[in-house]
Amino acid sequence: MKNYYNILDIPENSPDMAIKHQFRKLAALYHPDKPTGNTQKFVDINEAYKILGNIRQRADYDKSLRQLRSDGLAYGQDIISYRSRLRNGSNINISIDFTEDLLKNTNGSPGGGSDEFIEKTLTINRYEVCGNCGGEGKEPGTFSQVCPACGGTGIDKHSDTLIKDICPICKGYGDVFLYKCKVCLGAGRIRKDEQVTLKFNLAELIRSLNKKSQPVFTFKGLGDAGAFGGVSGVLNVTARVGDSAIEKIKSPKKGILSKLLPFGKKFPKTG
Ligand SMILES: [Zn+2]
Ligand SMILES: [Zn+2]
Repeated sequence: MKNYYNILDIPENSPDMAIKHQFRKLAALYHPDKPTGNTQKFVDINEAYKILGNIRQRADYDKSLRQLRSDGLAYGQDIISYRSRLRNGSNINISIDFTEDLLKNTNGSPGGGSDEFIEKTLTINRYEVCGNCGGEGKEPGTFSQVCPACGGTGIDKHSDTLIKDICPICKGYGDVFLYKCKVCLGAGRIRKDEQVTLKFNLAELIRSLNKKSQPVFTFKGLGDAGAFGGVSGVLNVTARVGDSAIEKIKSPKKGILSKLLPFGKKFPKTG
């Protein structure tokens, strides 16, 4: 739990109007379009005002602050929850067979085409940011609340002083959603089958085969989506190529290489 009064730089007993006034002043100062802009501060003051600018939520927040202090937290110390919901998305690793594509490819042979890319359309199963809640995990227009059980620390108050147990109500996150998103059930992302069309650079594929390394293509942002501000993973595609296609690549007469590699008739040996 953050100290929203510190973020807005205003005393805790300030009247609601003063909070509104201070928020407007800081929002104008830190707006990213201004020379004095600061995106992080702008996000923070907006988050603080979302709570302190709402009479009911401010009352709940004040109550939690008082509770925390009576539990022995030093004044002014920020309350950091035990766990964060932020998760980075995992990478997805798949392999695709390119043998047929290379055999069919006429690039470099007389009268042939000049395909620089091989396109593949496939379905991948990956996490996407939930479209219903925009990744926030709660129903649009609803709020989260400082966890009433732990006061935002995410730690079970009744646990032993040495071993800290995670708060069973908020699972350590420090806040609870009043209404979880009906689609993602609070996770902020959902698993989905997605059809994607990927373009593979033919020259890159062949160069990699010539180096006798297994070609791997990486597509940014096509791994699992992160949650609550986490970054997306990447999609790694390992290219499988059968011997018949390798032979074709190596062959100077039929070879795909003649146009793709600046070696003239001298082809690097692949083994
Ligand atoms: Zn809790
Ligand atoms: Zn959702």
